[in-house]
Amino acid sequence: MKALNCPLCSLDLKKEKIYYEDRSFIVLKTKTLKGHKERIMIVHKRHDHTIPYKNYERALDIVSKIGGKVFCYTPKFVIMDTTFATINDHWHLVATDLDPKSEDFNQILATRWIKVVDNTVVDESEV
Ligand SMILES: [Zn+2]
Repeated sequence: MKALNCPLCSLDLKKEKIYYEDRSFIVLKTKTLKGHKERIMIVHKRHDHTIPYKNYERALDIVSKIGGKVFCYTPKFVIMDTTFATINDHWHLVATDLDPKSEDFNQILATRWIKVVDNTVVDESEV
């Protein structure tokens, strides 16, 4: 289920910084950090444009949890809609910190945020 010429299908996972992986998803550090200390994405392993809502919800849970660790240096991070992404035929989401000095800060502000994760709130049930 891989597509030729798709940058997400042709990721060389040995060269990437992988934060999480299961049967359906991979969470990794993005190649271009755009001036952020951390910028991560969750990628569906199969080349699909959309995924079932149940999987989507699980992906949000995963990226929130992993992001909580990766973005521990900052009080908040956002999970962004990928409508304006260069790759839009292979399902993925990007999560980033909110550094006003980053190169894509204006684009972040213009993008719909799927979720804002507040790292200062500790959910004790997940510890
Ligand atoms: Zn693909």
